[in-house]
Amino acid sequence: MKKTVRDINVVGKKVLVRCDFNVPMKDGEITDDIRITSALPTINYLMENGAKVILMSHMGRPKGEAKPEYSLKPVADRLAQLLGKDVIFAASDVVVDDSVKAAVESLQDGDVALLENVRYRKEETKNEEPFTGQLASLGEIFVNDAFGTAHRAHCSTAGLAEYMPSVSGFLIEKEVKFLGDALEDPARPFVAIMGGAKVGDKIPVIENLLKKVDCLIIGGGMSYTFFKAMGHEIGTSILDEASLSLAPELIKKAEEHGVKLLLPVDAVCAEEFSNDSKKAVFDKDKIPADMMGMDIGPKTIEIYKEAIADAKTIVWNGPCGVFEMPNFAEGTKAVAAALAASDAVTIIGGGDSAAAVEQFGYADKMTHISTGGGASLEFLEGKALPGIECLEEK
Ligand code: AMP
Repeated sequence: MKKTVRDINVVGKKVLVRCDFNVPMKDGEITDDIRITSALPTINYLMENGAKVILMSHMGRPKGEAKPEYSLKPVADRLAQLLGKDVIFAASDVVVDDSVKAAVESLQDGDVALLENVRYRKEETKNEEPFTGQLASLGEIFVNDAFGTAHRAHCSTAGLAEYMPSVSGFLIEKEVKFLGDALEDPARPFVAIMGGAKVGDKIPVIENLLKKVDCLIIGGGMSYTFFKAMGHEIGTSILDEASLSLAPELIKKAEEHGVKLLLPVDAVCAEEFSNDSKKAVFDKDKIPADMMGMDIGPKTIEIYKEAIADAKTIVWNGPCGVFEMPNFAEGTKAVAAALAASDAVTIIGGGDSAAAVEQFGYADKMTHISTGGGASLEFLEGKALPGIECLEEK
């Protein structure tokens, strides 16, 4: 188990905290601040315990250059509102310079500063010097709380751990607890639901989950690659050619592991990839040559609901259909509702499934919604995440 901020003395220490403040923005305004509110428990703990808190984050992809549209200034303002306290925005186009050092030196115990977007520096995503050393010169303890970027070894997510004592914040602790417990010690039956567009992206996760789950439910665009591999007509449905030969292997592996594999039995199809397209439901082996599968059908929904109702642990990653289009959102909505009604431990891998649960109003009914799409996928693949691996063991 990794040490957390609770396991070290932070009083009077300059603590460098990597957060994931990569919030969605529109016209200079933050449209969703969940990533900021998710970081508050760690920031509040450090403030209350007399640390000098120096926050770091990336935002978007400025590609190693200072670009004002990717400035963290709006985050500094929102954070100050949420904390009810001044946040010193120690901004520099090169992230660390003498003025930033002076701002950090003048912090009192319990003060909070935020540095400028770490991706203004090209070294950041390559985990290269001199940037890591420059960041390190600002602090004495490194806290990683950015689960969303924990699968990347960057200067501010992993490099800093080579310079100073390094522990996790409460968000990473929580993510690792829920995702880790589900994989290592799940209440059974353990059901995983995998959806989304491409099988290829999810194959390593599916392979790892097949060793752990009792039932694997497949939904979304990836179903059609399985159907094609089974010799069915899939019309113009999305097909992941490169994964065609892997689908039968996954079916075989499920059998070998004694895992119940549920594939859709019917599909809501459309003539075009559009919400306004004419739609009709067909059994999985009756999809017309000129139509495409856009959502799981009503018979499939019933089967999936039953499997979900029986489960004691459920992990969900990827929508069951093109849920962004209201006419093809029913399957994803029904799955979200079934999870919300279940008394199982329900864990939502970030990204689209998190967005779907939010959109349909079920977010507060889930046990845990991961804040990291890519990171939670890699975690579920069983991979060590560099931003967590680098932290001290208890
Ligand atoms: P992924 O990033 O692989 O998790 O895929 C998420 C995307 O898959 C969402 O934008 C969905 O609209 C899309 N998707 C789900 N089902 C289908 C489908 N049947 N056909 C095309 N795209 C789909």
